[in-house]
Amino acid sequence: MAGAQSPVCPVCELHAESVFRVEGMDCHEEAATLARKLGRLPGLEAVSADVVRQRLRIKYDAAKVSTSAILAAVADTGMRAWLEHEAPAGVAPAILVRQLVVVAAGVLVAAGLVLDALAAPRPGVIGAYGAAVVLGGAYTARRAVGAARARSLDINILMLVAITGAVVIGEWAEAATVTFLFGLAQALEARSLARARQAISALMDLTPQEALVRRGGQDVRVNVDTVRVGETMIVRPGEKIALDGRVVGGTSEVNQAPITGESLPVPKSVGDDVFAGTINGHGALEVQVTHLRRDSTLARIVNLVEHAQAQRAPSQAFVERFARVYTPAVLSLAALAAVVPPLVLRQPFGDWFYRALVLLVISCPCALVISTPVSIVSALAAAARKGVLIKDGLSLERTGGVACLAFDKTGTLTKGQLRVLDVIPLDGISAQHVLGIAAALERASEHPIGEAIRRRAEEAGLAGDGIPRPDQFRSLPGRGAEAMIAGEPVVVGNHRLFEERGLCSPRVHEGLASVAGNGRTAVLVARGGRTVGLITLADQTRESARDTMELLRAQGVAHLALLTGDSAETAQAIAAELGLDAVRAELLPEHKVTAVGDLRRQYGPIAMVGDGVNDAPALAAADVGIAMGTAGTDVALETADVALMADELLKIPYAVRLSRATLRTIKTNLVVSIAMKAAFLGLAVAGLATLWMAVVADTGASLLVILNALRLLRAE
Ligand code: ADP
Ligand code: MG
Repeated sequence: MAGAQSPVCPVCELHAESVFRVEGMDCHEEAATLARKLGRLPGLEAVSADVVRQRLRIKYDAAKVSTSAILAAVADTGMRAWLEHEAPAGVAPAILVRQLVVVAAGVLVAAGLVLDALAAPRPGVIGAYGAAVVLGGAYTARRAVGAARARSLDINILMLVAITGAVVIGEWAEAATVTFLFGLAQALEARSLARARQAISALMDLTPQEALVRRGGQDVRVNVDTVRVGETMIVRPGEKIALDGRVVGGTSEVNQAPITGESLPVPKSVGDDVFAGTINGHGALEVQVTHLRRDSTLARIVNLVEHAQAQRAPSQAFVERFARVYTPAVLSLAALAAVVPPLVLRQPFGDWFYRALVLLVISCPCALVISTPVSIVSALAAAARKGVLIKDGLSLERTGGVACLAFDKTGTLTKGQLRVLDVIPLDGISAQHVLGIAAALERASEHPIGEAIRRRAEEAGLAGDGIPRPDQFRSLPGRGAEAMIAGEPVVVGNHRLFEERGLCSPRVHEGLASVAGNGRTAVLVARGGRTVGLITLADQTRESARDTMELLRAQGVAHLALLTGDSAETAQAIAAELGLDAVRAELLPEHKVTAVGDLRRQYGPIAMVGDGVNDAPALAAADVGIAMGTAGTDVALETADVALMADELLKIPYAVRLSRATLRTIKTNLVVSIAMKAAFLGLAVAGLATLWMAVVADTGASLLVILNALRLLRAE
C-alpha cells in the first residue's frame, strides 16, 4: 500500500503516519479500547480504525513516540499488532491455537454434561466445567483485562463478568457452556471477517509473481518487483500479463475482464496499452513496461477500494449512534435489575442477579455494528471484480435511489467514432475543397468530429502536405473550432456558432433543413467570413444502449435524460431510438451543470453518466457521477463517484441493483439484530432467558448478519 512504506512526513520529518495490522480487533468496541489506550501516548495525533480489515492508521510525532511504544501499548490491551508491511511469521498459528482451545473447551463441556447426567460425584463434574471455563475463558480474560486497563467497557469484560457471576452463584454448567459458546462464536466470526478482508486483497492476487523479461538479449523469468519501467516483457499466449505496459511487438486479443469486467476480449497491437492481471489470448506480445507493480492500474483499484470501504456510510453512522445509546441503556437496566428488586421489592437476590447477567450479555452491540461495514466491503469488492469502482459507501447507497439518470451523448450513448456521410458545398467551391478546408482546421482538434473529418480527407487522397497547417487554433467547446489557414480565418462548427458569428444565410438554413433528422450531426464550414459548405456525420449508438434503458426502466428509474451539445433534431432522433424521455440539446459544457440542477429540482436525486474528462463538472454536480471507460486514466475517481472501467453501459443497471441489494441487506440485518435484542431484553427481564441462550442469540445474530452480508460478494 502506498503511504505505509514512507512513514515520515516529508515536511518536518517528524510527523509520521503508519498503518498497523491488529489481530483481535474484530469489533468497534475493541477499536474504541485501542483508541483510548493509544490516545494516552504522548505525541499521538490521530488514530483511525478499520475494523473489517483490522487496520489501524496512526499519525504521530516521531520525536515523542516510537512504533515500538505503539506496538507495546496495543499488546497491553491483549491484542497483537505489527506494521502492515512487516507481517510476522507465525500469525496463522495464533488463530489455529484459538480454534484448538475452543474445541478443547467444547470437549470439556460435553464431558461435564455427561458426568452430570450420570450423576457422577460433584467434584468431578465441577472439575470438568471449571477446566472448560479456565481454558476457554483465558483469551476472553486477557482481552478483558486489556480493555479494563484502557478504561473501556467491551464485550470481553461483559462476558467475563457474566461467567464469573455464574460461577459465584454456583451455576457451573451455565458458566462452562457460555464460555464455550462465546469462544466458538468469536472464532467463527473471526473466520467470516477474514473472508471479507480477503475479498479485497484477492483482487491483487490476480497478478502473477513473475514476468518473462528480455535482459541482455536473453528472456529471463524474474520476480515482478525487480522489473523496472522501460524494460521489455514477453507475454506468451494464454499467460497472465504481469505488469502494465504498452505493446511494442506482436498482436493478440486480451481478456480484460479482471480489470474492466468486459466479457469480450479486446484486440491489441503495437501502441495499445495492456494491464497487469489481464489474460493474453492466442498471440505473443512484447510489452514495454510503463508502471511498477505497486503503481499498476490494478494496484490503484485495490487502493481505491480499500479507501472506499474505510469511509463511513450513512447507515453506519446511524447504527453507531444507536449503539451509543443502546449499550449504556441496557447496562443501566442490568444494574437496576441486580439492585432494585432484591432491595426494594424483597425479591430473591440470586434470581435477579442472574437476570442482570443475561442483560449484560445482550448489551453488546456487535451484531449491529459489524454487519454494515461487512455489507459495504462485500459489495465494493464484488463491484470492483466486475469493473465497477465505487468511491465510498455513500455513493454506493445513493446509486440505487436515483430518480433520474442523465446521459451524455457522444462517447457515452454513442460509440464516439463518427463517420463523415456527406460533404455538401454551399458557395460554389467543390466538395473536395470544403473537405480540405475543414480537415486543415481539424488537424489541431482532439474532438471525435475532427478525427472523422481528418480520416475522410485521408481517404479522399487529401492527406499529408496537401493540407496546410492551422495557425492560432482555438477550440470552442460545445460549438466548434477556429483558426487561421493560409492567411484566412476558418470556422468549423454547429449552427449555434454560425448564428453567433453572423455566418448564416437563407441558403445555409436551407442546407441544414435538407439534412435534418435521422440522428445525424451537421457541421458548417466557413472561410474568409463566408459559409462554404456543410458536412454531415453519423455516430452509432452502443449495442447495449437499448437494453440498458429497458433494464433501468424495469428497475423503476422513472426518468432517463439526454444531455448534449448537438442539435435538438439529432438529440430527438437518438432519444426516440433509445426510449429516453427528457432531452436537453445544444448545451454548452457549462450548461450541462445547470441542466443537471434543473433535472434534480424537477425529478429528485440524479445520476449523470459521461466521460470523466469533458463532463467532469456535470458529474460533480449530480448526486452520483458515473464515469465511463476509465481503465488506465488517473482522473477517474477524482471526478466521479462511480467509475466504469469499460465502456459498458450495462454496468449501470448492475450498479443500481447492487446498491439496492446492499441497502436491503443492511436493513434486513438491522431488523434481525434489533429484533433479537428486543426479544431477549423482554425474556431476560421476565426471567425466561438463560445465559447460554442469550449468548447464542447474541453471537449467533452477529454471525448470521455477517454471513448474510458476505452473500453480497456473489451479487450478480
Ligand atoms: P456532446 O455534448 O454530444 O458530447 P460536444 O459538446 O462535444 O458534444 O459538441 C457539441 C457540438 O459542437 C457538436 O455536435 C458539433 O456540432 C460542435 N463541435 C464541437 N467541436 C467541434 C469540432 N472540433 N469540429 C466541428 N464541430 C465541433
Ligand atoms: Mg461528450
